[in-house]
Amino acid sequence: RAKDQGRNNFQYFTDDMNIESLARMSLENELRIAITNEDFVVHFQPQMDLSQARVCGYEALVRWRHEQVDVIPPDRFIPVAEETGLIIQLGEIVLRQACLQMKALQSSGISDQSVAVNLSARQFRDRNLVPMVRRILSETGLAPRWLELEITESMLMDNIEQAISILTELKSIGVAIAIDDFGTGYSSLSYLTQLPVDKLKVDRSFVNKLPDCPRHTAITTAIIAMAQRLNLQVVAEGVETEPQASFLSSHQCNIQQGYLFCHPVSAAELPAQMIRMKSHLASVTYPQATPT
Ligand code: C2E
Ligand code: MG
Ligand code: MG
Ligand code: MG
Repeated sequence: RAKDQGRNNFQYFTDDMNIESLARMSLENELRIAITNEDFVVHFQPQMDLSQARVCGYEALVRWRHEQVDVIPPDRFIPVAEETGLIIQLGEIVLRQACLQMKALQSSGISDQSVAVNLSARQFRDRNLVPMVRRILSETGLAPRWLELEITESMLMDNIEQAISILTELKSIGVAIAIDDFGTGYSSLSYLTQLPVDKLKVDRSFVNKLPDCPRHTAITTAIIAMAQRLNLQVVAEGVETEPQASFLSSHQCNIQQGYLFCHPVSAAELPAQMIRMKSHLASVTYPQATPT
């Protein structure tokens, strides 16, 4: 019997599922504490408008200031926050910081620049979303037109009628809406015409195959063309090389975001990055598409 028990214990502790769930429980606990202490900072990644050689906006990306671990990527803790509901508090922390810091940037002289904040599925369906966004905007003093909210296709397709009504309410506040990671979800294209959205962000998995992969260039140019016909802005994300940037701008996708221009950095690091990016832009000429 002792032997059996021993073996059971042994099995218990070597069971991958259990090790995984223990790690997850501790991540969940740490996340709870981190939220209470607001151990998060928002980093900003510039979005370039290559037709004007300038920065036109930023994406806000959350970073966990963890004591022991150097970096816990959002792809690891956002899903946990999402499943536990902690995303509601975390999302508000991120939105407040993003708006506050954007407001500060604007007061320090920059203009015509907006900040894009990612929403998770649970935040999007939260009853308090619209009042929360309104409240943060009024608390921070950021004008609604400088805020953009990023959602994904799957969040829309879950329940299209409900999504349209949430988006309509958000739009009535005056904020802009972008569809993130576009092309990777299961959008029904016919709905795209009914959705009150402003922008499509071409997913990085297409962008990083440019300009040589015929299939990915075909999809990317089709998304750009469709966005233009629907009067939507289009942004390329994950631009890492000059050939990618040139290909995109020669196909009328002038708004681009990626490591080629700038990594996500803290607000304090932005001024130095701006100087670096200005000299980068001065040294390259991006091809512009000739109007047809
Ligand atoms: P996303 O919204 O699609 O954000 C873009 C991700 O691509 C960011 O990763 C960014 O750092 C990374 N990236 C930017 N340029 C490049 C590039 O040139 N090459 C490559 N390989 N990557 C690039 P990050 O910050 O690790 O965030 C990952 C995902 O986590 C985000 O994807 C978003 O879905 C989620 N996330 C991040 N912050 C938040 C947040 O505050 N709230 C919510 N709900 N989700 C967030
Ligand atoms: Mg995003
Ligand atoms: Mg994305
Ligand atoms: Mg993503």
